[in-house]
Amino acid sequence: MFDNLTDRLSGTLKNLKGKGKLTESNIKDTLREVRMALLEADVALLVVTDFIENVKQGALGKKVQSSLNPGQALVKLVQSELVQVMGEANQELNLKTNPPAIVLMAGLQGVGKTTTVAKLGRWLKETKKKKVGVVSTDVYRPAAIKQLQTLAEETELVFFDSDTSQKPVDIAVNAIDAAKKQFLDVVIVDTAGRLHIDDEMMDEIKALHAAINPIETLFVVDSMTGQDAANTAKAFNDALPLTGIVLTKADGDARGGAALSIRHITGKPIKFIGMGEKTDALEPFYPERIASRILGMGDMLSLIEEIEQSVDKKKAEKLARKVRKGKGFDFNDFKDQLLQMEKMGGVSAMLDKLPGMGNVSQETKEKINDKELSRQIAVINSMTLQERRYPDLIKGNRKKRIAAGCGQELQDVNRMLKQHKMMQKMIKRFSKGNSANMMRGLKNNMRGMRM
Ligand code: GDP
Ligand code: MG
Repeated sequence: MFDNLTDRLSGTLKNLKGKGKLTESNIKDTLREVRMALLEADVALLVVTDFIENVKQGALGKKVQSSLNPGQALVKLVQSELVQVMGEANQELNLKTNPPAIVLMAGLQGVGKTTTVAKLGRWLKETKKKKVGVVSTDVYRPAAIKQLQTLAEETELVFFDSDTSQKPVDIAVNAIDAAKKQFLDVVIVDTAGRLHIDDEMMDEIKALHAAINPIETLFVVDSMTGQDAANTAKAFNDALPLTGIVLTKADGDARGGAALSIRHITGKPIKFIGMGEKTDALEPFYPERIASRILGMGDMLSLIEEIEQSVDKKKAEKLARKVRKGKGFDFNDFKDQLLQMEKMGGVSAMLDKLPGMGNVSQETKEKINDKELSRQIAVINSMTLQERRYPDLIKGNRKKRIAAGCGQELQDVNRMLKQHKMMQKMIKRFSKGNSANMMRGLKNNMRGMRM
């Protein structure tokens, strides 16, 4: 996803990394490159212009923080502007209404509406525990109704049947009535698309919208159409009050122009992103994550930031003082570290931010996360207070008792002891610097060991 843009931007920004200072002339060159990269990615000109202006104002207006070198500072500015342009935070689906909450899907033909109905239904069922029904009002193509039926069976959603002789409004109204009787939480209404926007189609969907009064009207758009996607969305939005956008086929989009243009052009949030043909390939849209992916974040700036934010500063200071006084890093400290990692969303959240990790499936990530972190914490929990304080005590029988106590193998305990030794060494090395540096080194080390 967005590979071209990533390549161009990270190349461009790397050029500045060696420079000692952000000067008007060197950011000018770099910004020209950033501009080119965005235009090549098919980002709308208006968006590009504002983007560059904002980064420039940020770079020249502010003093660079002492902890970052100038190159990093510019990367950070570009990153936060990317986040900004995509809408800052994830906007959740609004389902707060008398059930069933009605979700209407709109969009041109072939963009992925029907697939998205099934994906969204499945997502709501699996992650939000909702009872979801789906219905097709695409009466122009018999195959379209059948297509939704097949997908609904596959994803085990309630399917309300319809046929091509019915009127779209009647189909939807009937389905919603039936859903009420079955106490469903959500009804997702699929619609017909056209190859281009025409009056007839707009009138039909406007009438449908008026009849069923959906709480969410989502515009589904193919991200491979770049800035055109933003323009079509705008045209739709002028006729229908859209509440959000679903960007499909992002898996095949190397450029990213749609993702970067749509929010700015329409003022509507991207709520979901489609990442493949299968019904599980739908993700809530997180501007920050996407921005990190776009930048490739070889230097993992955002990760560093997050670490600095969520690390409990006081604890870090305390640990640093302790180490400076010549005391070791014990298992209580180790446990603190693990708990902090857990607080940050664990290894899987971190993995997301690392370049090249986009292909690792969510399932795999969760496995790494759950197994490793909670296992390690369990091992420490199974130690006595004295053992935690004086790790050198842990030998022979104590190891066996700890393993038995947490239901794990002796080798798991041994592995923990070895990790602890490595970390202790690290801490000694880093404690010569300031505590923030130490924490950073420590986290990097922990991440390295686990992967
Ligand atoms: P509709 O005409 O808007 O209802 O579009 P469909 O849901 O029938 O999808 C059109 C084609 O796009 C199908 O072949 C889908 O499998 C494919 N498709 C939909 N969403 C995605 C996606 O996120 N990624 C990829 N690669 N293909 C998708
Ligand atoms: Mg369809």
